[in-house]
Amino acid sequence: MRRPFVAGNWKMNLDRASAVALAEGVAKGADSLVGVDLAVCPPSCYLEAVGRAIAGSKIALGAQNMYHQPDGAFTGELSAAMLRDLGCTYVILGHSERRHILGETDEEVNKKVHAALAAGLTPIICVGELLAQRKAGQTMTVIRRQINGSLAGLSPRQMTGIVIAYEPVWAIGTGEVATPQQAEEVHSALRKIVEDRYNDSIAGSVRIQYGGSVKPENAAELLGRPDIDGALVGGASLKVEQFLGIAEKAG
Ligand code: PEP
Repeated sequence: MRRPFVAGNWKMNLDRASAVALAEGVAKGADSLVGVDLAVCPPSCYLEAVGRAIAGSKIALGAQNMYHQPDGAFTGELSAAMLRDLGCTYVILGHSERRHILGETDEEVNKKVHAALAAGLTPIICVGELLAQRKAGQTMTVIRRQINGSLAGLSPRQMTGIVIAYEPVWAIGTGEVATPQQAEEVHSALRKIVEDRYNDSIAGSVRIQYGGSVKPENAAELLGRPDIDGALVGGASLKVEQFLGIAEKAG
């Protein structure tokens, strides 16, 4: 049985005081939630402050990115060990904004996945097609390329430490959510890819989140689908009631 997992991606938003207030609000409200794993992923400069604010709560800490090298002359980057040091459990890797705005490739995502796992972090690997690719009928070609590229060289044991997030790029921050059918179709295809690469037991246990304009109003229908195991939430994770409203639907 897969335990649902809802994570908030705060992106490059908030300041220190509002990040701490949001974290405290979410931590307090999460007290009464059962049957769901929760995480928040603040900007890296607020990881430590948010980590303090959620200490002792049900909320885990995640980062939005990292670099694959363990240390050295890589100005501006953070290593997996540094994120662990800051109290992170999770790291989002290959988010579409990093792929499409910052040019991150599957090969780079794959190096980061290996480095994250080696340091004891759980990567949340994001995959998703552009609107033009969906319209051209290329959704599964794109998803297959991204997931196979991101998972290259991972052993079955390593695969058990992975979370996947299906985030159609056209649904991120647009208010246009994938229909539960559209999402389920890709989620079940992703699970099949994992089964073909590994086995049915690993495919049956890997958690696959949906991301893209998830709100309390549409969460129940999406999260009620058999292969959708939670949500990666952007905009709605910046409001305590909205994030908790989604989390409630997942539990
Ligand atoms: C995201 O950026 O991961 C995301 C899903 O954003 P939003 O919920 O705002 O669409």
